[in-house]
Amino acid sequence: MVAPKQPSLFLPHGAPDLVISGHAAARFLTDYSAQLSKPEGIVIVSAHWQCPDLSLTGPGPLATIHDFGGFPAELYEIHYPAFASENLVGMVKHSLRAACLEVSVHPSRGLDHGAWVPLSLLYPGADIPVVQLSLGSSQDGAGHIAVGRALAPLRDRNVMIIGSGGSVHNLRAVAPEGSPVPAWATAFDSWLETVLVDNDLERLARFQSNAPHADIAHPSTEHFLPLLVSAGAGGGSVEKIHGGYSYGSFGMSAWAFR
Ligand code: ZN
Repeated sequence: MVAPKQPSLFLPHGAPDLVISGHAAARFLTDYSAQLSKPEGIVIVSAHWQCPDLSLTGPGPLATIHDFGGFPAELYEIHYPAFASENLVGMVKHSLRAACLEVSVHPSRGLDHGAWVPLSLLYPGADIPVVQLSLGSSQDGAGHIAVGRALAPLRDRNVMIIGSGGSVHNLRAVAPEGSPVPAWATAFDSWLETVLVDNDLERLARFQSNAPHADIAHPSTEHFLPLLVSAGAGGGSVEKIHGGYSYGSFGMSAWAFR
């Protein structure tokens, strides 16, 4: 039987309390897996693991990393019992190396909240092998699109690719939930939507010089780069699967690339 082809997704993780918030984006993530065929593996790239060179989590159980402070106590008690298989780690390593991308395995590394928050909403049963791949802090936008391209063949082997970040992410602009969305945030998101729908990966890679208010929407790039990995792993068909904001200006849009 031919394995189903999996999509490449870009998912928002918002603030860590998304998982207990009941926010519309959390409800979307909870419901969305029903629209997907269950993958045999997941590769997830989150904003919260940056290494000079690409790094992978290893096989076996993956610890839940509570890499945040100042949130309700119940959030620190959540443990998402993710695991990885030797086979999945090997497949991801092979795909990256086949594209001449160096990668090393960090066996003691677990999943940061950028990975376990969306995964625990999407697949609460934690019964699918997961590998987290770091961002490469020495790589630019085009470099992260290349990482996505290297991962794309895994989609044919029933492995889902997920980038986890935010379409707009400026911690200095955090406002109470329900605050008006600033015009700079919607302007950046509108640009993003146009570029993604046009599948213009070259413009996407140069977002810092192309997009309106890019310096305010992303004072640092780590929450945007996972989107470039997801887009790079796509096949030309792009669908916006969720929209909206949290804490005023955190972009909560989600995208499927097929
Ligand atoms: Zn984050």
